[in-house]
Amino acid sequence: MERFVLVHYAEIGLKGGNRRRFTERLRDRLRQAVESAGVDATAGIHGSRLIVRPREEGTAERALLAVLKVPGVANAALALRVAPNLDAIGAAAIEALAEAPAGSFKLETRRADKSFPLDSIAICRAVGATCVEASGRLVDVHNPDVTVRIHVTKEFAFVSAHTYQGPGGLPVGSTTRLLSLLSGGLDSPVAAWKMMRRGALVTGVHFHNRSLQGAAVIEKIEDLCGVLAWTMGKMPLRIVPFESCQRAIVGTVPAAYRMIVYRRAMFRIAARIARIERALGYITGDSLGQVASQTAENLCTIHGVADLPVYAPLMGSDKVEIMHRARQIGTYDVSIRPHDDCCSFLVAKHPVVKSTDAEVRELEAGLDWDALAEEAVEKMERRMILPDPAALGSLPRVQGPRT
Ligand code: ATP
Ligand code: MG
Repeated sequence: MERFVLVHYAEIGLKGGNRRRFTERLRDRLRQAVESAGVDATAGIHGSRLIVRPREEGTAERALLAVLKVPGVANAALALRVAPNLDAIGAAAIEALAEAPAGSFKLETRRADKSFPLDSIAICRAVGATCVEASGRLVDVHNPDVTVRIHVTKEFAFVSAHTYQGPGGLPVGSTTRLLSLLSGGLDSPVAAWKMMRRGALVTGVHFHNRSLQGAAVIEKIEDLCGVLAWTMGKMPLRIVPFESCQRAIVGTVPAAYRMIVYRRAMFRIAARIARIERALGYITGDSLGQVASQTAENLCTIHGVADLPVYAPLMGSDKVEIMHRARQIGTYDVSIRPHDDCCSFLVAKHPVVKSTDAEVRELEAGLDWDALAEEAVEKMERRMILPDPAALGSLPRVQGPRT
């Protein structure tokens, strides 16, 4: 019985050469993902599906976990390949069910080989009875927890268990390079993940005030990137020293405006990094109205200094939604670890909530942005973060059988 991972991608809008490029890139990403998971496997394109074949026994589930992180994957399932006879199909279905989430099941059969002695309905009946006897599970044809799919061809029968949802979207590398401003909080890693899912290659950028923040924050950012790297393949990270900049800002800008100016400074420095990295935009975790720096007025003042588009995919999301997504992608547990936030460095208790670009520009008049940005970029540290094996997670299980 050979075991492999069957991958489906979302086909909408894919035509001609686009489709080939998409599937080849997806295949390459799948290879990279399973390799990161330590699974020796091949990945190939078979019509409208991709197949990942582990070479070693007992590694298919790990391969599936890695596959489910890859943008472009609409869904994936563990599948078994057996001889096209009822006994072998029955045994495979029992095994497939044993690996699937708990609960009721149904069978779906397709026959490519019409010379098979039984028709689809008869195969379902026979194999269904075998499965009920072996597993004690209930059949529920209307609302099953698990659907076992059987596909009979002349040479083989394929039996696949539960289908797990992938991230969908486009394989990373399909669109462009973006810089993700990563703070260490809950929002920015989720925002980065969303843009990766749109095919963006993402470089993480963290502004770090050494005198204020300590090394634990950097470890936290690296851990977040270690989770996100499963989605990206591997993730470049830039640590930008921010203390000179913040000291200069504290020296001239009133406390009520500092948060706004810190964030404008980040965009000014990021402009230089974007040129080096050939990035075409910035990703932030901003969510309209969430904190004082995220009123529409302050967002105008802050995002207004960016020289490239700002992608803020959480702008319309509320915190519950963001937390749910963070749990799903695995960044939640890292994000909730407490850390010192450089944006709160000597800021007023009641910051200005309705700033204008003109007034802030006046307050910034004494600051030499060119010199500050040049120094920050010169001292910037570059790291490449690989997927963290501890962050691969486990397959979602449906709660026990319904009574
Ligand atoms: P998050 O949960 O991402 O920290 P937040 O709701 O706490 O977001 P802010 O702290 O105001 O909001 O930050 C808004 C956005 O600014 C962040 O999502 C992030 O993109 C960017 N940002 C803030 N601080 C930093 C930093 N030190 N380095 C890089 N980007 C930052
Ligand atoms: Mg924050």
